[in-house]
Amino acid sequence: MNSDLTSLISPSSGLPHTAEADLVVEGGRLVTPEGVRDGTVVIRDGRVAALLAPGDPLPSGPRLDARGRYVLPGLIDSHVHFRTPGLEHKETWETGSRAALAGGVTTVMDMPNTRPPSLDTATLRAKAALIAGRSYVDHRFHMGADPDHPEVLADLDPAVATSAKAFMAGHHTAPVVFREAHQLEAAFAAAARGNVRLVLHAEDQHVFDLLDSRGGDPHSYDAYEPHRPRSGAIVAVAKVVHLARTHGTKVHVLHVSSAEETDLLAAAAAEGLPISFEVTGHHLSFTDHDTARRGPRTRLSPAIRAPRDRERLWQAVLSGEATTVGSDHAPHTVEEKNRPPAEAPPGLPGVQELAVSVWTGMLARGIDADTAAAHLARLMGRGPAELFGLAGKGRLTVGADADIALLDPAARWQLSASHVESLCGWSAYEGWMFTGRFTTVVTGGQVAWDLTRGTAGAPRGRWLPGPDRAAMDHSAPALPTVRDLELELEGASR
Ligand SMILES: [Zn+2]
Repeated sequence: MNSDLTSLISPSSGLPHTAEADLVVEGGRLVTPEGVRDGTVVIRDGRVAALLAPGDPLPSGPRLDARGRYVLPGLIDSHVHFRTPGLEHKETWETGSRAALAGGVTTVMDMPNTRPPSLDTATLRAKAALIAGRSYVDHRFHMGADPDHPEVLADLDPAVATSAKAFMAGHHTAPVVFREAHQLEAAFAAAARGNVRLVLHAEDQHVFDLLDSRGGDPHSYDAYEPHRPRSGAIVAVAKVVHLARTHGTKVHVLHVSSAEETDLLAAAAAEGLPISFEVTGHHLSFTDHDTARRGPRTRLSPAIRAPRDRERLWQAVLSGEATTVGSDHAPHTVEEKNRPPAEAPPGLPGVQELAVSVWTGMLARGIDADTAAAHLARLMGRGPAELFGLAGKGRLTVGADADIALLDPAARWQLSASHVESLCGWSAYEGWMFTGRFTTVVTGGQVAWDLTRGTAGAPRGRWLPGPDRAAMDHSAPALPTVRDLELELEGASR
C-alpha cells in the first residue's frame, strides 16, 4: 500500500498478526439493493465480505471512518469519451479516470469515436493494450457500429464488446454516421442476431441537412437550439422504435433531450420492446437559456432544450423510466470551444460533475437524502450494471467487487476551474453551488482517491471482459421492473 495511505486509514490497535479484514469501512449509511441503513462494510480479497449491522462485532484490520457518509457502490458512468487513441490533446486516460474517481465513479464505459475509431475487435484489443497501466478505474468499451460493415455485429465476440454505438447524425468528433436507411436496418438486424445491444445517438442527419440547406450555420448561440431542434431527435427515435420492433434488437438510446422523445421511449418500453434510455447530467442541469447566455460551454449535441423538457427528463429519472444517467464526458480544449458557433465542437467534461449534479438536483426537488441515495445507486449502479452485464459492479452486496464511494451528503461547495481534473481544465458548472461531495473512493478494496490528497497509488483499473461466447446465454438479461424499483424505493424509505 502506498505510504500516503497509511495515515489516511487508522491502524487498529492490537492488530493481530493476520488481520481478519483488508479494510473495514466503519459506521456509514449503507446504500444496498435491499434498502438504506446504518452499518459497516468488511472487505477481504478485493470483495465485499460482509455487511454488518450497528453493534455487530467488527473484525480486525485497517479502518476507514464512514460516519456521516453515504456508502455507495462505486458508481458506473456508461457514457464517457476519454479520447484514447488519437485525441489525447483533449483528454488522457490518466486525467479522465482521475476525474471519474473525484466524481465517485469507479467503472466507465468508453465510446468508440476516437482516431482511429474502434470499429472492430482488433482495434478494441489494441485500445485496451494502450490503456493498460494508465487507468484509475475499471473500464469496458462500446464498439463502434460501422455503416459499411454492419454484418460485423452478428458475430461480435462478447468477451470484447457486448454493445455497439451507432451515430444517426454526425458532428466534429462523430464522422462515422449511418446516413442510409438500409445501413441502419442492416445494423439492427445484425445486432439482433449477435445479441448486441445498440447504443444510439438518435438524431436524424436528414432532418438537419434539410434545415441546413435553408438556414445555413448559426451565427450566435441564441440560434443554436433552433439549428439542431427536437424534430431531429424525435424523428430518429421514432425510427429506432420501429426498427427495434421489427428486428427485436436491444437498444439503449443515449442523451434523450426532449419531452417528446421521453414519451415515445417510455411508451415503447411499456409495450415490452427491449428499449431503454439514458439521460445526461447536463440535460438535467441546464436549459436553452444557459446556452444563449453562456455560449459554447453548453453547445451540445443533442442541444440543451427548454425548461419543460428538463422537468420531463427529471420525471423519467425519478420514476424509473430512464435506466441510466450518463455524463457523455466529451472534453475539448478551451481554444476549440471558443471557435465561432458553427465550428465549436459539441461536448463538455462531466464524469466528475455527474453524480453531484444529480444529487444536488434531487435535493433541490425536495427528495429526502435516503431516497436520493437509492436513486443514485440505481441510475449509476444497478441500472448500467444489469444493462451491460458488468458482473460484480453497481451493487453494495456481499460478494460484489469492493468498489465504494463515500458521499458527504450535505457538504456545500462551489465548483471552480481549479477543481477540474479533466485535462481540458474547464467545466460548464464553474460557479455552481453543489450539495454533496465525494470524500473517499475505494477500488478493488483499496483507497484509490481521497478529497484532500487526490489519487493514491498506481493506476490499477482493469479492462473488464464480457462473458465467454460459450457461456453466453442468448436470452436478454432482465431489466428491473417497475415493481422491483418500487421495492427498492420502499426499502430506501425504511
Ligand atoms: Zn457521447
